Amino acid sequence: MSDAVNQVLIFDTTLRDGEQAPGFSMRLTEKLRLARQLDRLGVDAIEAGFPIASQDDAEAVRVVAREVRRPIVAALARCAPKDIETAGAAVAGAARPRLHVFIATSDLHLERKLRITREACLEAAIAGVRLARRYTDDVQFSAEDATRSEPEFLCRVIDAVVAAGASTVNLPDTVGYALPDEIETFFRAVLARVPAASRVVLSAHCHDDLGLAVANSLAAVRGGARQVECTVNGIGERAGNASLEEFVMVTRVRRDRAGYGTRVDTTQIFGASQLLSRVTGEPVQANKAIVGRNAFAHEAGIHQDGVLKDRRTYEIMRPEEVGVPRSVLVLGKHSGRHAVQRRCEELGETLSRFEIDQVYRRMIALADEQKHVEDGELMELVAAVRAEAAGTPAPRRPGLRVVGGTALDGAPPPPERGYGHGV
Ligand SMILES: [Zn+2]
Repeated sequence: MSDAVNQVLIFDTTLRDGEQAPGFSMRLTEKLRLARQLDRLGVDAIEAGFPIASQDDAEAVRVVAREVRRPIVAALARCAPKDIETAGAAVAGAARPRLHVFIATSDLHLERKLRITREACLEAAIAGVRLARRYTDDVQFSAEDATRSEPEFLCRVIDAVVAAGASTVNLPDTVGYALPDEIETFFRAVLARVPAASRVVLSAHCHDDLGLAVANSLAAVRGGARQVECTVNGIGERAGNASLEEFVMVTRVRRDRAGYGTRVDTTQIFGASQLLSRVTGEPVQANKAIVGRNAFAHEAGIHQDGVLKDRRTYEIMRPEEVGVPRSVLVLGKHSGRHAVQRRCEELGETLSRFEIDQVYRRMIALADEQKHVEDGELMELVAAVRAEAAGTPAPRRPGLRVVGGTALDGAPPPPERGYGHGV
């Protein structure tokens, strides 16, 4: 078996589905910083936005496409000419542009939301894929609410969009309703019933309304999916999407059972999680798997005793594997530039040389006053240096932005958008 067969593609939608959730709007500079971290993380594709939703969204996609060159950069569009033209223009500058077109296929969505017939849906799907192919060869089609769609009709749509030129077909569990065994059977059935489906990459997009998004994504891969859509910290509409860090670490820790892996550099996971939390001002749940602050904490005496004797007694993975620093590196006035730089990187901030110099000088000055400089204080220094360079007032408590409060650099937070779900 070739390596490709053993790899599942990671399609990150933190900047699109994640950003759509209330309280998670991001501004362009914040999106770009996250996109760069996603690049370091090694995801295969970054969905950078939904360009028709707003001019800001379109601009963010354009900038990410231009600046982040390794991964595929995708833009979302409904199966409507204006959406596709806007999305196509936004990703045109990408090294590897992808257009992601979608339309709902369940009778509930067709009758109650779109108010169109199945035949009209099929025609729109075909026309959408064909138009998208004029902008790029890499077209992904999503059948929104696929898991609640009538199977025979869904299979007709899949067959038709592959014929029209889609190379990835995403079958979302849009409302987080399916159970793992159903998802596995569902993907197997599609592959059995639609011969064309085996010529393209099938993709899963699972929501966490019942806490099953990661389990369902794993089941989808067992059923034949080869791309999984997920987000950092599992953010996304309602209860969120499949958590990138959980999916990736399951495939790594239980490679023996999964039988496949991803190209993600797991040591970048903690930095990505921390950066997202700072940018959005939303803390990570303390007991969140992999990235919560208690994920590697051992407080009970019997556990501490076991871990000190042999870590494997209570740890199934090492904190270092996901980028959680094992030792708490205390910065003080004897710390060097390199220590400052490393700590910032562990917290998801990659600094320019100028920024390192500036942050380092201020850290030394602060350490003169108070001996030790904590992570939060270090991040305040980073934000202050950046704010000054941008000509905006220095923030008092960066990273603690509240909804409706003051943003990291003193500017107002981005407006919340309610443009509809996507997939
Ligand atoms: Zn979604």
